[in-house]
Amino acid sequence: MDIISDRLKKIQPSQTLVISAKAREMKAKGRDIISLSAGEPDFNTPENISQAGITAIQTGQTRYTDVGGTAQVRKAIANRLNKDYDLDYTADEIAVSSGGKQVIFNAMMASINPGDEVIIPAPCWVSYPDIVTLAGGKPVVLDCDEKTTGFKLQPEQLREAITEKTKWLIINSPCNPTGVAYSREELRALCDVLLDNPHVWVLTDDIYAKLVYDGFVACTMVQVEPKLKDRTVTMNGVSKAYSMTGWRIGYAAAPVSFIKAMMKLQGQSTTNACSISQSATVEALSGPQESVDEMIGTYQKRRDLVWEELNDIPGLSCIKPEGAFYLFASMQGCLNKTSQSGIKIVNDEAFVTALLEEQGVAAVHGAAFMMEGYFRISYATSTELLKEACIRIKQFCMNLQ
Ligand code: PLP
Repeated sequence: MDIISDRLKKIQPSQTLVISAKAREMKAKGRDIISLSAGEPDFNTPENISQAGITAIQTGQTRYTDVGGTAQVRKAIANRLNKDYDLDYTADEIAVSSGGKQVIFNAMMASINPGDEVIIPAPCWVSYPDIVTLAGGKPVVLDCDEKTTGFKLQPEQLREAITEKTKWLIINSPCNPTGVAYSREELRALCDVLLDNPHVWVLTDDIYAKLVYDGFVACTMVQVEPKLKDRTVTMNGVSKAYSMTGWRIGYAAAPVSFIKAMMKLQGQSTTNACSISQSATVEALSGPQESVDEMIGTYQKRRDLVWEELNDIPGLSCIKPEGAFYLFASMQGCLNKTSQSGIKIVNDEAFVTALLEEQGVAAVHGAAFMMEGYFRISYATSTELLKEACIRIKQFCMNLQ
């Protein structure tokens, strides 16, 4: 009898983790690799936040906490949601998990019955469809192509996709992998469709909401339409905005009954998120925010640099995103050409494979995000490395025949 469950066999390893691991392995063997595949800020966690973690250890905050987090951290989250979005959540409408990913996992596992449908606009983060599948649901992936939608879910598309089995819409703004973000008006139009369909819940993944550029204002569903509050899970976390990926803190704001359901699950799996990280999160959310502003300024400069360079390369083109730290470039102008070492560029996966082999630049193919013909690069790395990566990508494309 096979030890591996049928459930697990239905899901894939995260492609971004697979490619990052391959890049690390090549680096370890001495290859000069520039990895633009991971979704991880290159900055250190700001000093005041790290210090709060150290203080937490030194003062013995090293024990189990409430499953959903300490009162202090839940209060700090409620205050931040109020400051950023004018939302009113009480501490019992908030729960902390080990990363935003666990919030999504909890939400799906706590709600999905076999065959329930979850609408996911694509391109989308690699983990959504797999988490839904693992929970026994059916991911309903809606193509939001660049030319007609600018990679954004259209209200009529949503309306058509909703069936009586639809349990959730997952919305991610700014989006991983495209970086595009929904304006208030665009969210409003989606909210109207949801108001007509009271059985559909919304999971809004706002993990990149602080990382927006050119004065763009990121909004969240409940802020745009408070009537959706009793069926929305607002998800956020400190990983990306505060450069705290390793601390593993994400949070949910949701109706009390659903928070309780998610915590029932978490109480039987991981229990509370790391107590030390919870204390550091209080400082991240309540302390000075200047370091976030500095990081945003740097990301914006990098986005502009790489976006211009990519659009200058024959065969590539790229939409200018409002946020996150990714560019999602079309490689369709390179299709069916042959690389220097003889790899036929039959699709985006062949493109990123050849790019890694020949020029040592690691990127992730669009198909991993449910949209072929593209590749994603993360610009959360030094300007120097980004410049070098652009030179190499250009060389790679120029060599195609
Ligand atoms: N949501 C999106 C869209 C992401 O890109 C990521 C991380 O890559 C997460 C959620 C999960 O973040 P965390 O590290 O807090 O689990």
